[in-house]
This record gives sequence, C-alpha cells and structure tokens, in this order.
Amino acid sequence: MEILRTVAELRQWSRAHKIANRADGVNTIGLVPTMGALHAGHASLIRAAKVSCSQAVVSIFVNPTQFGPNEDFARYPRTFEADCALAQAEGAGAVFAPPVEELYPAGAATFVEVEGLSKRLDGGSRPSHFRGVATVVAKLFIASEADRAFFGQKDAAQVAVLRRMVADLRLATEIVVCPIVREPDGLALSSRNAYLSPGERIQALALSRAIRQAQALVAKGERRAAALIVAAREVLAVESAIRVDYIELVDWATLEPVEVAAPGSLFALAAWVGATRLIDNTIVG
Ligand code: AMP
Repeated sequence: MEILRTVAELRQWSRAHKIANRADGVNTIGLVPTMGALHAGHASLIRAAKVSCSQAVVSIFVNPTQFGPNEDFARYPRTFEADCALAQAEGAGAVFAPPVEELYPAGAATFVEVEGLSKRLDGGSRPSHFRGVATVVAKLFIASEADRAFFGQKDAAQVAVLRRMVADLRLATEIVVCPIVREPDGLALSSRNAYLSPGERIQALALSRAIRQAQALVAKGERRAAALIVAAREVLAVESAIRVDYIELVDWATLEPVEVAAPGSLFALAAWVGATRLIDNTIVG
C-alpha cells in the first residue's frame, strides 16, 4: 500500500492505475474520504470500494475548515499508524494523507458553498461545517479523479449536500452511500465515541434507542413527523447527560422538513452527550 502526501502524487497514482492493464477491462478508482481514527464503519466503506472498483484509496485528513472555532479540531483523535494498518488490511491500494498546506495553500480563497442545504440539520448548529466539507470533498474528487466515492449514511445530511454539489458542478465522481455500522448494543460507530466517559457511553445508547423507537412507530403505521419526533424526544429525555440539538423528519434530497413520512424521508437527530455531539438517523417511508 502506498502513502501519498501530495495532490500531484495522488493524481499520478490514480492515472497510473486507470491506464494499467487496460486490456483487462476498465480500471476504476474508489475513494473513501475520512478524517482518520478509522473504525469498522470506515472499514465497511473501504470494502465496498474494493468490491465495486479495481483500486481503493483512503484519504485521511482532519479538515480544519469543517470545524467551528470552538469545536474539537485540535483534539480530534489522530491515529495514523493504526489507520494505515486498517486500510491495508481492508485492501486499500493507497492512503492519501496530505499536510494542511497541501489542500489549503497559503492564501487559499476558493470555497464550495452548497446554498440552502448547508444550513439544514447539522448546518443549523454548525454554520460553516458543510462549506468546509463540500470544499475539501471537491478538492479530493478533483485530485483523485475517482470514479466513485464512498460515504456512510451515518452522515446523511453530508450525503445530501455532496450529492447536490456533484450534480451542480457536474463532477464525474459517483457518490455511493453505505449503511450505518453499529456496535452490538446499537450505538453508531463514530471516531467521537472515544470522547465518551463510561457513564456517557451508556447514556449515548439513547440515540439509537430513539431511532429504533421511531422505526417501531413507522412499522406500526405512524407517519406523522410530530409523533415520531415526540417519541424520540421522550427517549432522549430520560438521560440526564443528553441535550438535544435537533430531531427532524426531512426529505433526504432537499433536507427540507416534511410533516408526513414518505419514501425518501430521513429521520435524523443530533444530541450532546456531555461535551460530545453525536448523530444518528434512519430512512423511513
Ligand atoms: P469521518 O472520518 O467521521 O469523517 O467519516 C468518514 C466517512 O465514514 C463518512 O462518509 C462517514 O459517514 C463514514 N462513517 C462514519 N461512521 C460510520 C458508521 N458508523 N457507519 C458507516 N459509515 C460511517
């Protein structure tokens, strides 16, 4: 597995693989963008990339522009050696881990702003978050010339923003969404779970319980957003360390609220567990 540090190296690696063995068929590149601290959720994306593309590259970059001024950029977990071991074990052909100046050269002044969607869900409490995400993912798509890029449904609002960006910029990279990977007890895997104290770890289970409660109501025929939201809020209210950021039923494409669940509706929530902000969601309808 190769470790690439510059955009030029990534582009060269990608082009070399696309033209290699051309007689054997079309060679495709799958990109898995991450911020590192890799876990089984990331591993599932790498496996999906390996299944559908002839080469997979994992980017590991803690992107400063998607963190707010009082957020956890400085203390975000950085576990590069272990990340490389995981990427290699899952069959990635390369890891792209650039220094910040490589993706944001001195004087960088170009940003990608997906209007509207970027203010919804997580964008409501993290005002410049999706601007940072869209900007770095556009840079990664352009640099890697990937045929497909693999994202988790865990960050469902991010998927909506990026699909809009790909459509609007007519980018050639296809977005593939993979299911949420959970701990056996239901907690969605997240690099930020490492911040939780043992007590908070137990209380954090309320997020997936709230999601399952909404799913159970939908299974019984409930479709009203208000009923699903109230039910989820009640589950979260039981835990003293939890403070709700949002609980919403939205159209997954537009992230606009819907009053009645329909095919393509996304039931999503974000909550603070102590000082750690976690998210979870399910597709309903
Ligand atoms: P991150 O490193 O947190 O920026 O995440 C990188 C990618 O991994 C994103 O597309 C996430 O949606 C995805 N991801 C994170 N956690 C999970 C999970 N539990 N299941 C599936 N995908 C995940």
